[in-house]
Amino acid sequence: SNMLNLSLQSLSLGLEKKTFSSQELTKFYLERIKRHNTSLNAFISIDEDKSLLMAKKSDELIAEGRPSPLTGIPIAQKDIFCAQGWPATCGSKMLENFIAPYDATVIEKFNAAGAVNIGKTNMDEFAMGSSNETSYFGPVKNPWNLELVPGGSSGGSAAAVAARLAPAATGTDTGGSIRQPASLCGFTGLKPTYGLVSRYGMIAFASSLDQAGPMAISAEDCALMMNVMTGHDKRDSTSVERDKEDYMSQLNGSIKGLKIGIPKEFFSQGLDPSVQTLVESAIEQYKNLGAEIIEISLPNNHLAIPVYYVIAPAEASSNLSRYDGVRYGYRTKEYDDLMDMYFKTRQEGFGNEVKRRILIGTYVLSAGYYDAYYLKAQKIRRLISEDFTNAFKKCDVIMGPSAPSVAFKAGEKKEDPLAMYMQDIYTISTNLAGLPAMSIPAGFTNNLPVGLQLIGNYFSEAKLLNIAHSYQQHTDWHLQSAKGFD
Ligand code: GLN
Repeated sequence: SNMLNLSLQSLSLGLEKKTFSSQELTKFYLERIKRHNTSLNAFISIDEDKSLLMAKKSDELIAEGRPSPLTGIPIAQKDIFCAQGWPATCGSKMLENFIAPYDATVIEKFNAAGAVNIGKTNMDEFAMGSSNETSYFGPVKNPWNLELVPGGSSGGSAAAVAARLAPAATGTDTGGSIRQPASLCGFTGLKPTYGLVSRYGMIAFASSLDQAGPMAISAEDCALMMNVMTGHDKRDSTSVERDKEDYMSQLNGSIKGLKIGIPKEFFSQGLDPSVQTLVESAIEQYKNLGAEIIEISLPNNHLAIPVYYVIAPAEASSNLSRYDGVRYGYRTKEYDDLMDMYFKTRQEGFGNEVKRRILIGTYVLSAGYYDAYYLKAQKIRRLISEDFTNAFKKCDVIMGPSAPSVAFKAGEKKEDPLAMYMQDIYTISTNLAGLPAMSIPAGFTNNLPVGLQLIGNYFSEAKLLNIAHSYQQHTDWHLQSAKGFD
């Protein structure tokens, strides 16, 4: 129905005008989840009573005339965020029975805005993956074709938004986990500048790369969510001290004369030709809207994946050392002594991909290899950042594909980690540099969505959202939703 494509702002208006209550809206989405989650596996946990209680409180706020723009609106939360009283599994057996005792800052901010938590979404284990097949809770299906993966690691949030089981969702992006699923499932996703959204209460994977962001139908919806999610947080030492921006009020700027940089490295071998065609025609559309196209180069982009797979596992091996079976999470049933308990707990509690990362990370940080791998990777990381600094001297925004292909078959890359890692060839360098980037729907090939990636300079989220919004004013790719989810 048309209801399913309503913007967050229209939903907010409907609530304010009492066309429907938050409790009705929440029930509507809970019903949809009940109907479709068996086939999609997008949610790890739903809690009707909790969601409806939140909706009731929002209805009271609205009745008192004190709503803010997200009051009463259901939002799906990636299961990487701690929300008090809710499970926070991070897709792992290690945290299967973990109930969060406190709210992540992001959750706290949604709660303060009166948004309704509609459920916790499935994800790759500890956000490691590009297909949602590493989840302990089973794979997520792509709503456009149930035989295909939704992308990852935020695959549950992706499927939820694409099948309209929630009007919007949160995701996290360490190497592409918001943008790649956005591309494979056909919606709008934004990874903000590192430090713009607090990581407090967000289960850590690779702390120098992790960043939370919105996953929604449109750039406008992402802007509204960014208004809630951003802000300095003294509980996250990498949170930036910066005045909060109003992203909604900056959506209607002109893009005449906008300089779009096209990195030649993003259009080389490995890119699916049908994806390339659609990305090029989206860029052509920008040209028609008055933008200027400039060829640029990101000469170190080919090193982004190898560098990432040194740095991210290094940080993960350190972050995941906290899962020792002592304080919280899974503990093995039978053991001889403390060491045996540690070994069995971690052996039984972690899946294969997580173990692979811990092994790589421990190796590259070890005394004999630190300089050769970890330190070297950090140096190349700086070169990758400098490529962007140089590029942004010539252009305002960089455009290219979000992912090298459309959604692929479940099982196809599962046993081939290197092929899986290639999914992030166009997204990872921005995480290494800490830059903001978006993926927006740019058309379909064989009935499968394709995303256009927009990369901006530091703290240019308002500009990126405006650029994405102006495209969405002239196209309706973002309004297409998967069939069979009525
Ligand atoms: N696919 C990448 C990985 O497996 C990125 C995941 C992410 O962004 N969380 O690490």
